[in-house]
Amino acid sequence: MSSVSRRFGAYTVTPLRDGFFSAPGDVLTHPAGEAAAARARAGLPLREGQPTVAVDVNCFLLRGTSGAMLVDAGTGPAWGANFGHARQALAGEGVAPDEIARVLITHLHGDHALGLVADGAAYFPRAEILVPDAELAFFTSDAARARTPPARRGGFDVTAAVLEAYGDRVRGISPGDVLQGITALPLPGHTPGHTGYLVAGEGEGLLIWGDVLHVGEVQAPDPDVGVIYDLDPPLAAASRREALTQAAREGWTVAGGHITGFQKVAAEGDGFHLTPA
Ligand SMILES: [Zn+2]
Repeated sequence: MSSVSRRFGAYTVTPLRDGFFSAPGDVLTHPAGEAAAARARAGLPLREGQPTVAVDVNCFLLRGTSGAMLVDAGTGPAWGANFGHARQALAGEGVAPDEIARVLITHLHGDHALGLVADGAAYFPRAEILVPDAELAFFTSDAARARTPPARRGGFDVTAAVLEAYGDRVRGISPGDVLQGITALPLPGHTPGHTGYLVAGEGEGLLIWGDVLHVGEVQAPDPDVGVIYDLDPPLAAASRREALTQAAREGWTVAGGHITGFQKVAAEGDGFHLTPA
């Protein structure tokens, strides 16, 4: 078992690092305008002299009495050599694809769901894929596709690929209890059905929150900082603030698609502060 695994309630949770995403700092946005966005970018690391968003891409292995499951699935080979390493990490944990009974999806972006698919077929041949209802409804709607800017339409193609590979093994889920000890917490905005999964613990829960934060060191202190990938920026900011507030108040550990390992959240001034748990 990996040294970074931790136990929460009925599950042993292991982050699987799928890859490393990097983009120019101007993917950050701010509702207060360009000056505020520039201040946010000033908090980014420099690469070749330019502020750069440089973050991990993660998914999660959960092992419990009912077997092994994943939260999200990485990119698979679709995004090139910097990505798709979750499959190897899963093998390193001694888990074969046909041992995965379920995959819980936080949202239907490629870095979270394309790893479900291998050459058009199901990479996890026995898995049931659990996707928030609101996410499935949006990303299967022709009308929603038509009103989404072309550069933001990737989720529609991802969804089609997942449905093609898994058919009726893709199951919609509603907010609330999903499985024993796991609750779906809607955190809409990044995508319409974007959802966190709260793993109940004895005294301490774990919120696997998908893409609440892309750049923790910038967005935790100022949750209004968004990314161009947020489909509804004001709603994403409200969900970001809500998730951070709840995690701080409840003492939850958090983990996500683009933060490293397990973290704790504390309120600090008007914003929040993350520290490794
Ligand atoms: Zn993501």
